Amino acid sequence: MTAPSLCLIVADGLRPDSLDAAIAAGAVPALARLRAEGGAHTITTCFPSVTGLAYAPFLMGKHPAQVGLPGLRWIDRTRQRVPIPAHARSYVGFGIKGIDADLDPAVPTLFELAQPGMSAMSMITRGLPHAQKIARGVWWGARGIRTHYFGTLDDWLQVDRDVADIVARRVRAERPRFTLAALMGIDKASHARGHASAEAAHALEIVDRLVERLRREAHDDGVPLRLWVVSDHGHSPVDQHDELADVVRALGAKVIAHPWVIGARGDVGVMVGGNAMAQLYLDPANPQALGWAALESRWGALANALLARTSIDLIVLPLDRTSCLVRAHDRGEAIVRAEGDADTWRVSYEHRSGDPLGIPAGRYTRDDAWDAACDGPYPDALVQLAHLVASPRIGDIIVSAAPGWDLRARYEPVEHVSTHGALARSHMRVPLLLDRPPLAQLRRTTDIMDMACAALGVNMHRSGS
Ligand SMILES: [Zn+2]
Repeated sequence: MTAPSLCLIVADGLRPDSLDAAIAAGAVPALARLRAEGGAHTITTCFPSVTGLAYAPFLMGKHPAQVGLPGLRWIDRTRQRVPIPAHARSYVGFGIKGIDADLDPAVPTLFELAQPGMSAMSMITRGLPHAQKIARGVWWGARGIRTHYFGTLDDWLQVDRDVADIVARRVRAERPRFTLAALMGIDKASHARGHASAEAAHALEIVDRLVERLRREAHDDGVPLRLWVVSDHGHSPVDQHDELADVVRALGAKVIAHPWVIGARGDVGVMVGGNAMAQLYLDPANPQALGWAALESRWGALANALLARTSIDLIVLPLDRTSCLVRAHDRGEAIVRAEGDADTWRVSYEHRSGDPLGIPAGRYTRDDAWDAACDGPYPDALVQLAHLVASPRIGDIIVSAAPGWDLRARYEPVEHVSTHGALARSHMRVPLLLDRPPLAQLRRTTDIMDMACAALGVNMHRSGS
């Protein structure tokens, strides 16, 4: 019998309620069929809730910060990993080429574990030969840049149609063991026209047609194909843009911020990514991150000024690699703290002057922490923050934007009417459609890696390690 193969389709930026509405309207029959067979599950993505980073849970089973990706943009204090420009990494544009090398080499990707593999439009591709990366060559790069800066929304939808067609043809011809195919149209349409726009609905129909074709052709060819559909982040309307780099400049700091980082020197690196999330690197020339207790006397006024802004919902201040303060302007301060090793790991949440995350104080296992927050305003906040602050690459002040706001006003070719990146409920919850009911409750996008390994019969840890 032929070995099972798996297609993971990423409907980039799709929210669970939008999927439900499209199924109820009869607009996506192939997705409706999947839901009938395996269920529609609402799980949580990672924080920052942004494309690229948010594929690390699917492909590596880890929070992106655990495998070396602290943000869409970040500053390398060690100056070892990112030499130029200004030791500031951005995975937008040409910086995307650095993403695979930034990953922890000890954590395997699904592309390495289940070969041969194939990807389309994935930023993480480690383990794939070049020929197996659909839409990543020079021609596609030029098309992407042209479409990004000068294209219409229909140009983006045409990219999706073309990618879907290539994916379907190559999956049928080559039958890779694992395929990750991302279609970006829902996200692009949401940013430009709104998540509830006709264009976003049309982009979801392209996903539906790809699912229908892949399953039909596998059936016709008599090959066992597992197929799941997931999203990597949500979306919420935005009508106000606070250019955070300018805000920090106006407070008297010399700022390093994209896109003008070449030769830049400054005392604060403002790294916005996913646009509703940002990290501030204080004194980025210092190779050591100091922790908030040592930074507060010099930078406390900056943190207070940020927290007082209408555009900012939460700030997170790492104390060390296991704990952080969380502050909200009108809901006080709390501490999130992780302890224990892989088997005994717990995360605790202690209210200090308040409860900024709307989660009962307590000491939680990973599963209990998810369950305690799943109906609240910040789903999975405790585990997400614990994983984020554990990374030596993160900033010293982490910012999550308030509803209706993002943190980048300039340098986007199309003004965004919808945004993501924040720790907010509308950004963190994503749908997952399976072709069979799951064996256990699903909570996070990291669970997909476990399920994929089981479906493909591979060991999550490289054999021999
Ligand atoms: Zn986006």
